Order: sequence, then C-alpha cells, then structure tokens
Amino acid sequence: MTALLPRPSILSIEPYVGGESKIPGVNRIIKLSSNEGAFGPPPGAITAIAEVAATAHRYPDSGATALREAIGRTFGLDPARIVCGNGSDELIAYLILAYGGEGTELVMPAHGFVMYDLTGRYAGCRVIKVPERDMVADVDAMLAAVGPRTKLMCLVNPNNPTGALLPRREVERLRAGLRDDILLILDAAYAEYVTDPDYDPGQALVDASGNTVMTRTFSKIFGLGGLRLGWAYMPPGVADVLARIRGPFNVNSAAMAAGIAALAEPGWIERSVVHNTEWRERVTQALRGIGITVRPSHCNFVLADFGTPEKAKAADAALRAKGLIARGVAGYGLPHCLRITIGTAEECTLVIEALTEFMRG
Ligand SMILES: *Cc1c(COP(=O)(O)O)cnc(C)c1O
Repeated sequence: MTALLPRPSILSIEPYVGGESKIPGVNRIIKLSSNEGAFGPPPGAITAIAEVAATAHRYPDSGATALREAIGRTFGLDPARIVCGNGSDELIAYLILAYGGEGTELVMPAHGFVMYDLTGRYAGCRVIKVPERDMVADVDAMLAAVGPRTKLMCLVNPNNPTGALLPRREVERLRAGLRDDILLILDAAYAEYVTDPDYDPGQALVDASGNTVMTRTFSKIFGLGGLRLGWAYMPPGVADVLARIRGPFNVNSAAMAAGIAALAEPGWIERSVVHNTEWRERVTQALRGIGITVRPSHCNFVLADFGTPEKAKAADAALRAKGLIARGVAGYGLPHCLRITIGTAEECTLVIEALTEFMRG
C-alpha cells in the first residue's frame, strides 16, 4: 500500500491562524488583531456593494479594467502594469509559485510577513529568514544570504508586525545588490499610512528595473478586507506571466465596485492618516510611559514589547478580560510582543487603560 501524500514541503507548513475575533463569555468584543482600519468600509463602498447585488449573476470583468484605471489615476501609474488579485496574498502566491519552486531559495527578514514563509514552502522553496538589527531588516545580511539558487527576495515596508520602515536608500541598495534574475517583492500593504516624506512604496524601483514588483491592498486603510482585494504594480514581463497563470475571474464584482468607490471616497485617506498618526503616537507614548517598549511604527498598529513571553501572555489575558483582542506574534519569532491595531479613539483609550492597570500589577 502506498499512501496518498502531497509534496514533502507542504507538510512543513503550519496552517495560517488569523487574528481572533471572539472571546467566550465576553459580549462586547473590540478586535484589534488584524489591522483592518479604524473606520470600517468607506460609505461609498457600502453603497457600491449593494448596487452590484442585482447583477451578481454576471461574471465579473476578467481584466478588472475599470478598477485598474481607477488605481492608475489615484496613484499615477500605468494601468497596463497593474494586476488585481483576490487580496494581495493571492498575487504574492502567484509570484512565488511562478518564480520560485523546488530547488530555489526565498530570502526574507526574520520578522517579515508570515505569508511569505508559508507560500514559499508551498512552492517548494527553501525559505531563508535573515536576522534583523533591533527589529529592522538588515540589508547587508539580506544580501549576504543570497546564494546561486536564490530566486526571490521579499520585503514588507513598512513591516508587519514590527512597524519598521526601511529608508528609500536602503531599499535601493538592496535592489542594486541583487542579481537581475532575482525577483524583489516589495509589499507595501501599509503604504497609505506612511507620513515620512522620504518613503517610496516601490513605484520608482519597479519603473527602474525589470525584476521588482510592488504589492498593495484594499484590506487596511480602505477597510475592505472581507471582500479580498489587492493589486500589484510590475514590469510588463511579470504582468505577462501573471496573465498566464491568474484565475480569469479572481476578483469578484463586489470587490471591484467597492474598490473603485473606496478610491473615490472624498477625504478618506487623509482622515484615516490624520487619525492614525495622532493615535499611534498617543498609544506609543502612553505605553512607553508605563514601561512597555514600543519601537517607532509607520503602520496602523504598534508592537508592544513586554520583554518576556510570560509577560506578553499575561498582558494578552488582561486585555481579553476587557474584550480587547490583540495579536500574539509568536509565529513571527516575537513571543514577547503583542501587535495592537490602532482603532477608534475610544478603542485606543480602552487599550491604554487596560494596559496601565495591568502594568500596575
Ligand atoms: C494585511 C497584509 C497584506 C494584505 O493582504 P490581503 O490579502 O490583501 O488582505 C499583505 N501583506 C502584509 C504585510 C499585510 O500585513
């Protein structure tokens, strides 16, 4: 008898565990575990979703033309070089499967986004996690980790879950130090939240090279995580590859309509950024003031460093007792930390109060 088995690398994958959304016995839950944005979906997107319901029997536009044009207008990009996906996770998976595979290596920072590790294994790549310097990706170490079999380099900037931002010059130095046959994936899921004027989410590097892709999402600042919508900007050669392998109807009609409406929502990004910048700073200062280490974050969350896994677990329990769900990040090699999304003013205040009480002991 021979048993049915998948490729060996598949069984090394631990299934992805998303941010939790329920606590048994607690009625009012405040979910701060998935960085979904403080304000819910844009009102125009809610209307757009309702409007497409009547034509839900029609297949969606497989080219996502109207959506790609709207993205192109908003961000000043050529729509022909934009590909949309069922969440950016799907696009990341396509890229890794297309360019990686058995016998290749994928290099990423030690505390980078876990989907690169999972999908890299799925593709059969050897995944190399490079140590960071005080929770910031180390470009020299990343370059030193490259070998003859390396085909993929994955960098989230600013990073989830650390919130760290790699300066533009460092990202440029990373690309310049890579061979031309290595695809650099720049994941800018939190780009809209960044206020540092020196930041480039990757557009300039994509334009300057034939082997760099920038991925973006509607799941964070645009509050559409439940519809699954992401996009990527890439060189024509990579767009051609994705056109061959992409599911023809990978983006559904509700997601497309909502995405277009979200981009058109007046003042949405500005209002979200103002709120996020103010409350990220308030939460950071408050937590530092009670003895919790918080490094600078450029995203819509902070990473609270409690020093030990035991203390992080106890803090998590204290938050949960009040209905507040943060994100444990042991899977990112950070068992002593909790990632906490910047929610509404009230939600942030409740987090500060709960952790103040906890730290007083
Ligand atoms: C949230 C997130 C994404 C977005 O994934 P979607 O599939 O678009 O919802 C991608 N990368 C990182 C680093 C993220 O934190």
